[in-house]
Amino acid sequence: MPELPEVETTVRDLQKKILNRRIKNVWTDFKKMIKRPKDFEEFKKEIKGKKIEQIRRRGKNILIDLSGNKTLLIHQKLTGHLLIGNWKLEIRNWKPLKAGPLQEKINTYIHLMFWLSGNLMLALSDLRKFAKVELLDQEELKKELSSLGPEPLEKDFTFEKFQEVLKRARGKIKQVLMDQEVFAGIGNIYSDEILWKAKIHPFKDASKLSDSDSNRIYQAMREILPKAIELGGESISDFRRVSGERGYFDPERKVYRREGEECSRCGKMIKRIKLTGRSVHFCPKCQVF
Ligand SMILES: [Zn+2]
Repeated sequence: MPELPEVETTVRDLQKKILNRRIKNVWTDFKKMIKRPKDFEEFKKEIKGKKIEQIRRRGKNILIDLSGNKTLLIHQKLTGHLLIGNWKLEIRNWKPLKAGPLQEKINTYIHLMFWLSGNLMLALSDLRKFAKVELLDQEELKKELSSLGPEPLEKDFTFEKFQEVLKRARGKIKQVLMDQEVFAGIGNIYSDEILWKAKIHPFKDASKLSDSDSNRIYQAMREILPKAIELGGESISDFRRVSGERGYFDPERKVYRREGEECSRCGKMIKRIKLTGRSVHFCPKCQVF
């Protein structure tokens, strides 16, 4: 699932490409993806003619602010990712007009398409079709985002604030880091990477962390997430940039999907274990309880 660095990469790419354009039309072959307004014809009627005024991120949500005080919220969920280009519909399949990365299989599961002014299209490719799309007014948006925890990269999110949040959290640190109501934007990949860097066992109880433990987690978080953004996110999963190209974080991964490989710090074999149905990757030697 795209996490904070991937969603941030998408937002920055979109800012460069589609700001100030108007939405001319919209198409879908999977109406269930549009949660609000529930009726697709209503969604279409409301969004047509709107101008894209701002694009931002909150947690794993892409927020596209439109004229008329509306915001288009897109949560890409498991396999969704936005693409920009030009396509034509050929017997239910969208074919990119130009040869290149948009032709890669993973970019061809297009279930939502926007036509924009200036002859450009915005598409959502989503293999598993779990993505969520909503057109909201400001009141609804506020409500929708109200349960999200603080943004880990915000300037004023100091170590003191981080510790305060941690002290209120209950459970294993791995789960705490991934809980969107505790911190917004961190998921399976980056929680694994952060805990490896901080040398903390993923099953350690959040309430039992020492000051030095939590400081190392905080530092790791503030190092790994910006680095991943700089590299355009990871593409070991389905995530691609809006151009269809891969992100470059993959070789930086120390533990995520590296089970059976040697730990680059101590040489011990990286392990994968299950925690409430999700995989956890860690080094059994240098990540301690
Ligand atoms: Zn190790």
